[in-house]
Amino acid sequence: MISKKMEPLVNNNSAIRAMFEEGLQMKKQFGAENVYDFSLGNPSVPAPAAVDHAIRAVLAEEDTLTVHGYMPNAGFEDVRAALAESLDRRFGMDYDAGDLIMVVGAASGLNILLKTILDPGDEVVTFAPYFVEYGAYVRNYDGVLRVVPPHAPDFQPDLEAFAGLLTEKTKAVIMNSPHNPTGVVYSEETLRRLAKILTDKEREIGHEIYLLSDEPYRELAYDGVNVPYVPWYYPDTIVCYSYSKSLSLPGERIGYVAVPKSVSDHDALIAAAVIANRVCGSVNAPSLMQRVLKRCLEEKTDVAVYDRNRRRLYEGLTQLGFECVRPEGAFYLWMKSPVEDEKAFVAAGKRYHILMVPGSSFACPGYVRLAYCVSYETIERSMPAFAELAKEYGL
Ligand code: PLP
Repeated sequence: MISKKMEPLVNNNSAIRAMFEEGLQMKKQFGAENVYDFSLGNPSVPAPAAVDHAIRAVLAEEDTLTVHGYMPNAGFEDVRAALAESLDRRFGMDYDAGDLIMVVGAASGLNILLKTILDPGDEVVTFAPYFVEYGAYVRNYDGVLRVVPPHAPDFQPDLEAFAGLLTEKTKAVIMNSPHNPTGVVYSEETLRRLAKILTDKEREIGHEIYLLSDEPYRELAYDGVNVPYVPWYYPDTIVCYSYSKSLSLPGERIGYVAVPKSVSDHDALIAAAVIANRVCGSVNAPSLMQRVLKRCLEEKTDVAVYDRNRRRLYEGLTQLGFECVRPEGAFYLWMKSPVEDEKAFVAAGKRYHILMVPGSSFACPGYVRLAYCVSYETIERSMPAFAELAKEYGL
């Protein structure tokens, strides 16, 4: 018999799984090139060639027992030192190896941090729409997720509503910018105001509130938009970074947690998080990927490819009369459903072989998400299908 805690997760997962299976079925039936699958956030730009070269070089040049062996649970010291040096240079921080923990992607980073800080009943606040797994992560450690309602049409966070949700029980806030699913980048002004609200609240309730900055999309930003470095604004920020999107390595499961020296209870928190890494079952981040990363710290994905997709999709859809948030970052486009029931709209899209994710999967009904990490040709070919869909809705 499975646990009561797992039951809702299984039900929710079967809905996502059903969508995935349906996509596969449609591709089999109509041919992959005739299905416009905007459902998955899997990078469409290959990892930089330097990553493959580095894998070969590590295997050829480094000691095999070390490369494949156990290591300190926080990760190889020399990798963390090199990463700290790179972050210090880029963001003017004073990290050293001891402030960083190598983790199994952002999902794992968030889990070990929540394991580290939550007692049963503690609250974590986030902003709708949000990456829906946050709910499961918080429940993993018997926490309670409080959700700030969405703020249309710009989808910057509603900070007044946010302030109203903070209580004595609030232990952490999870933010994500550039944002999945809206493509919004939180502005400097937003971060300043967010920091002020949190600092005032910390003073009032007498304990720290950690701001977990979930940053798998940091490097995916367009039109020269500024993606502010969150620890500059709020001392109790902990950065959860992942190379899943920035180096197109989602299957390799590699990222880091960065705990700036300004974070309350810094040393105890890191010591506990390193143990959490072990007892959550990941033990340490993949050793080969850590070795590779040390050689690829300055590598970048080809953002121009996503940018070209973004422009084509945004311009194409708005010309057809769809209302979209202009994406500034990540690789998602957030579109208003022409009818309130966005699930009906998603179902209508399928009749034209268009696969989109309903906003209710991100706690924000009435909208849909299109992942434009697809080939440019897919976007081009989808336009007549979107035109039909627009016609059906009288746009
Ligand atoms: N956070 C957000 C906002 C995401 O979109 C994702 C993945 O899509 C993750 C976390 C998990 O990323 P990772 O592959 O690094 O675990």
